[in-house]
Amino acid sequence: MATKTNKIENNLEKATKVKNKWCLCDENQKKTVFKFNEGYIKFISENKTERECASSAVLEAEKHGFINLAEAIKSKKKLSAGDKVYAVNQKKSVVLFVLGTEKMENGLNILGAHIDSPRLDLKSTPLYEKNGFCLMDTHYYGGIKNYQWVTLPLAMHGVVVKKDGKVININIGEKEGDPVFYISDLLPHLRKENGKDEVSGEQLDIVVGNMSYKKDKESEVVIENLKKILKTYDIEEDDFVSAEIEIVPAGRARELGFDRSMIVGYGHDDRSCAYTSLQAILQCEKPKRTAVCLLVDKEEIGSNGATGMKSRFFENIVAEVMSLAGQYNELSLKRTLTNSNMISSDVTAGYDPSWAASYNIQTDAFLACGLSFNKYTGHRGKSGANDASPEYIAKLRKILEDNNIFFQFTEMGKVDQGGGGTIAYILAEYGMNVIDAGIPLLSMHAPFEVASKLDIYHAYLFYKAFLKDMK
Ligand SMILES: [Zn+2]
Repeated sequence: MATKTNKIENNLEKATKVKNKWCLCDENQKKTVFKFNEGYIKFISENKTERECASSAVLEAEKHGFINLAEAIKSKKKLSAGDKVYAVNQKKSVVLFVLGTEKMENGLNILGAHIDSPRLDLKSTPLYEKNGFCLMDTHYYGGIKNYQWVTLPLAMHGVVVKKDGKVININIGEKEGDPVFYISDLLPHLRKENGKDEVSGEQLDIVVGNMSYKKDKESEVVIENLKKILKTYDIEEDDFVSAEIEIVPAGRARELGFDRSMIVGYGHDDRSCAYTSLQAILQCEKPKRTAVCLLVDKEEIGSNGATGMKSRFFENIVAEVMSLAGQYNELSLKRTLTNSNMISSDVTAGYDPSWAASYNIQTDAFLACGLSFNKYTGHRGKSGANDASPEYIAKLRKILEDNNIFFQFTEMGKVDQGGGGTIAYILAEYGMNVIDAGIPLLSMHAPFEVASKLDIYHAYLFYKAFLKDMK
């Protein structure tokens, strides 16, 4: 045991001495980093679903002079250099463009992040009563460790769409005085008799009520009381069939540590990259190459579906923008996509001293060491990875160094330890240059994840420089 402890301490010492970049910041720089992160903390505290992130991105974009592409198409508006447009896909993904002075055929500079996060979704017929409790049945979304989601205050976000098309927005559990929801766990006193502590997917049902209502002389039922309460929201039990309701950890993101250098919050994956990419394009003015920011849905479950990266939405929207700019034909569209450069902005695993055995200290990302580039992701012999070319990486190194950006080139964990995927390989199918670059996290996919304020700020600095300088 002693040897193991020493090894961890040595690793920490190495990390602190060699890599941690806070010591390179003066007080003013620290202030700038903290100020930028105030906006980020607000964003992830107030936007916990892809719909909320998408509509918040649109609001911000409009404030910064972006116009709705659908309206531009309707009014046959001509687009030219410096114009800013956005398009929304089914209220769950967004793409923003700032038109460059060069022809689009020369290629786009694209930032792509995802705005869906691991969570629990309500099933289509969720409500049931069991032994005096009313519960709602869920199906988890994305890769979660089930046991992390029990005994936490949970909030309910989403929409219920009535048969007549009326949309009821649900957001319960975030405001002071709101009720929250809860998944129970077995007390330690009873554990022995029951054997293992594992939590199954079917056990992840949320407790929503315990107050009975006397239906007739014989039966006292909780579910009837619940149905009465739902009616006050204008929701009938059948309406859950046409609903999209996500169960997420309740509460705001918070500063972490005496030094407040980190943030603990829900959905750093991948809203830390989405927010920084969005801020980068909002600040982008008349770039040479057309700048693009993609905020997509469904990454956590394989990027499928109409709002995932595999949908044709992006390609179609590029065609629409080219058409309004008077630059569209099929061959030009193909050239535009092939000649593009992309940063697939997704989080990565940060080295965790408490779980040192799963990491490779030589190659893993560290918190507070800057934006983390993964030349490839994948698992077991790089399977499924996009592998960025050295020619592309060389150009990126120049941008990083010219703009004094803190960065690290890393892998995710030990070889054969596991792995992961992003949207990188999907855009790489057009033959464009793509690399993964994102923010390292502790406890990725847990209800509350941890990120460094310094890495978040330097991600923003790099994304901004990439849109401006990448050739
Ligand atoms: Zn993820």
